Parts: sequence; structure tokens; C-alpha cells
Amino acid sequence: MVVNKVKTSRIKNSKEEFVIGKIVCVGRNYAEHVKELGNELPDKPVLFLKPASAAIYTGESIIHPDYGNELHHEVELVLLIGKTVKKASLEKAEEAIAGYGGGLDMTLRDVQNELKKKGEPWTLAKCFDTSAVLSDFILKENYSLTLEEEISLTVNGQVKQKEKLNKMISTPAELVSYISSVMTLEKGDLIFTGTPSGVGRVQRGDKLVGNIENVGELNCSII
Ligand code: ZN
Repeated sequence: MVVNKVKTSRIKNSKEEFVIGKIVCVGRNYAEHVKELGNELPDKPVLFLKPASAAIYTGESIIHPDYGNELHHEVELVLLIGKTVKKASLEKAEEAIAGYGGGLDMTLRDVQNELKKKGEPWTLAKCFDTSAVLSDFILKENYSLTLEEEISLTVNGQVKQKEKLNKMISTPAELVSYISSVMTLEKGDLIFTGTPSGVGRVQRGDKLVGNIENVGELNCSII
């Protein structure tokens, strides 16, 4: 794999450049997924970060880290931020979303469970190289998201995750508004909006295909 210092999101039908800034991830944003992991519904979205260096594109391979055994797939809607916003109202937050894509928030679940027990940050479980897989993005000017779209993930052709985006607890605009109350969001930043239920373990050799209806598809193998 060629490692570029600067990574940009790939945009359909556009030459506009979006250099990937920070990747903000939301946890526990679908009730069924909160239940399946035995977690409690949060009052506020749970937030964590991934470095831009963790990003790979559809068609590339996820490298299974050797310090964990339970690598889980989490398919998610990803928001592409188009302008700087801070303490944004819902309206301003909506305006700051430039487009949408699909993503995989790859997670070492066994490592995360150990870190949770110890009260330590999730960095080792969430931020390793290739842990953020990205589809191509579609700009809002080319597609308006209705939240009626289906998000899905198959492993070796078997459906593992399948849900409507309208099952999200916080909407895209609500997430952007909330995150911008904590940290300034800038053009090129990405927001992973949480995963629906059905997360599970993948192993080396598995082939993953994620899809968000009308938005984007991604495929990758585990090596
Ligand atoms: Zn996630």
C-alpha cells in the first residue's frame, strides 16, 4: 500500500478537493446495537476520534492487527463536512454537511472490552491503520438524503447488518450541531454516525461489502 501524507476523500462527479481532517466517530446511535453490546442508551452521543492515517478507500485491504482477536465490522453512514462550524444551530449544522458516504469503523472488540473495564481510552481498539474504510462520497447537490435509505453489510455474501438510516437516534444535523459544540468542525472532517445492530467478527480472508442505498458502496478484504 502506498501511504500518502495527505489523504483526500473521493467525490463522485466532482473535482472539489476535501483533505481528510479529523474523523469524529459516534457510538451508540442505534438502539438495537446499544442492546446487543449490553450498553446503556446515552443521554448525549458518545464520541471518539480516529486519525486520518487510519483511512483507506474501497477496494483496499483491512490489515488485521496482531494484538487482538475479535475484529468487528461496523458499517456506518459518514458525513463529509464542507465548511468551518462552531456551536452550530441545527440549520447551520445541516448547511455544513457537504455530502455523504459509507464507512466501516473497524473495531477490536476484545481489546475495547478490556479498555472499558480499565476505564482507559479506546485508541488501541479503534485507531489502528486501515480501521476507517471509506466509500466514494456523493455531494448533497447531487443527492438529498431522506434517511429512508437502507444501510447494509455482507460478509462473504451473507447479510450481517441491515437497517434503515431513520433508526438513528440522533440525525446527521443533530450530530454535527452537538459535535460542533465541543470542537470546531472544518472542511474535510468526517463524521462516522454509528452502526446498526448485527456487528460481528471477521477473519483474515473474509470479503466485506457495505452499501448505503443511493449513497455509496464499499468492498474490502481482511488480510
Ligand atoms: Zn462505530
